[in-house]
Amino acid sequence: MSQPAVSIEKEIDRVKERKEIPLDDCWNVEALYLSWDAWEKDVEKWARPVLKPHWPEFDAFRGKLSDPKMVAELLENTFAIDRALSKLYTYAHLRHDEDVSAEQPNKAYTRMVSFLYEFREELSWVEPELLQLEEKAIQNILDSDAVKDYRIHLEKILRFKPYTLSAEMEKLMALSGKALETSQRTFGVLNNADIKFASVTDSEGNVREVSHGKYHLYLRSPDRQLRKAAFCSVHDSFLKFENTFCELIQGQMQRHVFEKKARGYSSCLQSALFPHQVDESVYKALIASVHKQLPSLHRYAKLRKKLLKLDKLHLYDVYVPIVSEVNLTMNYKEAEELVIESVLPLGKEYQEILRKGLTVDRWVDRYENARKRSGAYSSGCYDSSPYILMNFQGTLNDALTLTHEAGHSMHTYMSSKHQPYQYSQYPIFLAEVASTFHEELLLQHLMAKVSSKEEKAYLINQKIDDIRATFFRQTMFAEFELKMHEWVEQDIPLTPALLKQEYRELNQKYYGPELVIDQEIDIEWARIPHFYYNFYVYQYATGLSASCALSQKVLKEGESARQKYLEFLSSGSSKYPLDTLILAGVDMKSSEPVDALIHRFTGLVDELERILS
Ligand SMILES: [Zn+2]
Repeated sequence: MSQPAVSIEKEIDRVKERKEIPLDDCWNVEALYLSWDAWEKDVEKWARPVLKPHWPEFDAFRGKLSDPKMVAELLENTFAIDRALSKLYTYAHLRHDEDVSAEQPNKAYTRMVSFLYEFREELSWVEPELLQLEEKAIQNILDSDAVKDYRIHLEKILRFKPYTLSAEMEKLMALSGKALETSQRTFGVLNNADIKFASVTDSEGNVREVSHGKYHLYLRSPDRQLRKAAFCSVHDSFLKFENTFCELIQGQMQRHVFEKKARGYSSCLQSALFPHQVDESVYKALIASVHKQLPSLHRYAKLRKKLLKLDKLHLYDVYVPIVSEVNLTMNYKEAEELVIESVLPLGKEYQEILRKGLTVDRWVDRYENARKRSGAYSSGCYDSSPYILMNFQGTLNDALTLTHEAGHSMHTYMSSKHQPYQYSQYPIFLAEVASTFHEELLLQHLMAKVSSKEEKAYLINQKIDDIRATFFRQTMFAEFELKMHEWVEQDIPLTPALLKQEYRELNQKYYGPELVIDQEIDIEWARIPHFYYNFYVYQYATGLSASCALSQKVLKEGESARQKYLEFLSSGSSKYPLDTLILAGVDMKSSEPVDALIHRFTGLVDELERILS
């Protein structure tokens, strides 16, 4: 999620070495393995480093997968090894992230990555063999009692049958893989390494360098001249290569069209969503529902202009916090307590699990140390507690990060607790529901706690801008991405002029009449890496709207909604993602979740206006 940068006054400490950090502030990796020796023993047992292939026992199953018993036995063995490898991997990657330059963890981590790769390689024949079976044989497997523990897992593989080609053609498809990555990879190096931005001058006459990272910082600066100059510098650089960027993105679309045609999907959209078990109607419903609700965003643009006291609102005025920073700082223990208090609406039992996890069981690696991985994540495996990495500095953002990651962790915890290994991991489509649900709870909790008008306004502004960035902006991206694909599917060549015009019109439509659509924005599509991800970004918007609808239900309807939500958290991948959400009480094909989020957004805009005027 994107948040305005918060700067706090504090002395600059020397960054501590890992060994200087008290154990209580470090995650409990010893619960996984007591030592590298213990880890090494498990490697010998499960990854069998000296053997090649590492898992020769799988060869006995080749050519025998029409027999349901063989399928069940193969899956049982596969999941047992997968589970053990994921435990080994988790330990190596956690230890690696504690100090990314330490030699032993680094070696162990690299080894595990390659074991996992080889594991997939050695089993890469399984799905093709299953998919080459006749329809009747497939049905026979699915109907058999032998596979009852793996039925949904198998269904999720076998549903690809209609889009599977002959063995020979599948081989050819696999061979084309690397070559088809060229557009995306070229974009990556051009965007990350080769493109350079001109330095800019801020309002005090200082020359400032511009990079991707600094650009986002500058856009949040109260110095308008700096914001504007950085905005122009970045987009001017992309404009210089507009033909190249256009060809690259066209190449990526061509790749998707090739795959769609080769496999017989009805559209690129269907081909991208099918593997995630999501219908195209969800994607289209999102865009349609957002269209109806755009006046809410227009209203916010108007209010933003007014509150920032600008005569014109430009695109470089969209990210700066409206309310100047307030002193919402806290130490780790305070943040932890706030997070624990805030989840009470999910029940005492939920709260106690989280409390024990954060305080006694040491889920969290709290503070920065020398060479520790930056950022934050939630990780873990079936045989461990969840683990949260963060670099807590004492800002409100850090508290939000802690609760966000703790939301992921509780989802992981509940799914692992209630599902067998094969269904313990929740799908990507559902990944951001629990985390953003937690953020909402913390926000509501803080709103009830803070006393000053400025603090309240600051919190609301954060949330509003989060919804704008995660929901409206990503839906606009989703719409643009769909349009580009449809053009290429219809053999309409993409040109810089066509893309720039479409992108401009979308910005106009989304932000409304209050925003000056600077010419520079026309080229923004060229710098968005997500357009190479194949219909990925819409999930930010659907995730946030699902979590908003669910949190409203839990807060308003009480016990039965709460139970359903906990069942949702406990279901892992044991169902299809949309069905999981329906059981929790949200239908993603309807406009309900989007409407719930807009309702929340409008309410927040009203409140901000009321507080500040
Ligand atoms: Zn997340």
